[in-house]
Amino acid sequence: MIHKVAIIGAGPAGYTAAIYTARATLSPILFEGTQPGGQLTITTDIENYPGYPEPLSGSEMMGYFKQQSERFGTEVIGDTIVKADLSKRPFTLTDSMGTEYLTESVIIASGASARWMDIESETALRGRGVSACATCDGFFFRGKEVMVIGGGDTAMEEAIFLTRFATKVVVVHRRDSLRASKIMQKRALENPKIEFEWNSVIDEIHDVTAGKVTGVTLRNTVTGELRQRDIGGVFLAIGHKPNTEVIAGQLELNPEGYIVTRPGSSYTSIPGVFAAGDVQDHVYRQAITAAGSGCMAAIDAERWLMEQS
Ligand code: FAD
Ligand code: NAP
Repeated sequence: MIHKVAIIGAGPAGYTAAIYTARATLSPILFEGTQPGGQLTITTDIENYPGYPEPLSGSEMMGYFKQQSERFGTEVIGDTIVKADLSKRPFTLTDSMGTEYLTESVIIASGASARWMDIESETALRGRGVSACATCDGFFFRGKEVMVIGGGDTAMEEAIFLTRFATKVVVVHRRDSLRASKIMQKRALENPKIEFEWNSVIDEIHDVTAGKVTGVTLRNTVTGELRQRDIGGVFLAIGHKPNTEVIAGQLELNPEGYIVTRPGSSYTSIPGVFAAGDVQDHVYRQAITAAGSGCMAAIDAERWLMEQS
């Protein structure tokens, strides 16, 4: 069987592309990957998605996206694409069970994953006091002092969330001003349980030998001064990298590793392959823009398929 459209990714971009292609009677198949619902499922309240005047959890919202896409006939497949052959049409996608899917078009909506500092002690202590998801792991840090690394919206959100459990949250940021939106900055700066270490980065996390986090070595990015600080946990919130492993070497990427799309469209460097959401957006990276670009990809795919017939 040759599918008309296959969608890689179950975040706001993937599900929106599914809703539109399903309503266009293209019977899309959608692969969920390892994070069904995408990045929003690891956050608490969503307050800025239009149409929801009251906050709702990311998981609840993504449940609605899925429900809506299935209502119009999307086939959601709970597996990950491990290989994509985009060299000839129909394209071939292979899932982790080895099942091959032939498809005339592909919409890549594989999003982005948390970035790590990639220092040895961080790698060694991941899951042992070092985390990149406060909503997943915050509960384990009750009564402790924890650190959040980063100065963006995610860092502020994680820090505020962690004040529910931690006695104190120390935000470590490499500059002296935050990147986060004004509203998130204000909430964090006004929170009495949050303290800031400005112009600082982590050089090392202790204690690898003990197998748990007991403290860090901080480096001042202006003076170079090194300083020890006791801490019970470290949460990374230093941004995300696009998930492009399965299409590596096949599609044009920009220098930061994001899929290049033709301006004002979702067309990639291969005809019949479209990209939407955070995997092709290093600027806006919001649920609403991901959903909007998912809609664009669906319409582009539908028109492209019509031109082929
Ligand atoms: P993602 O949500 O990243 O979803 C990617 C999907 O692709 C996942 O389902 C994954 O499993 C799947 N996938 C990846 N690789 C494969 C593969 N090989 N095979 C199959 N599937 C694959 N934005 C807002 O607008 N408001 C907020 O309040 C907000 N809060 C946030 C809080 C946090 C902590 C974070 C990290 C982000 C937040 N964002 C928020 C940003 C928002 O989550 C993203 O912009 C949005 O989720 C991007 O959607 P996406 O569909 O492009 O990708
Ligand atoms: P981000 O905006 O890219 O911020 C990453 C932060 O980490 C920056 O402050 C950056 O410092 C710092 N950083 C990067 N690499 C570092 C390193 N190696 N060491 C130390 N610090 C490092 O990423 P994000 O906060 O994850 O946000 C991603 C997107 O999701 C944004 O568009 C954001 O608006 C959106 N989002 C929205 C909400 C919301 O609306 N409530 C919540 C979360 C996320 P510099 O500032 O110096 O570059």
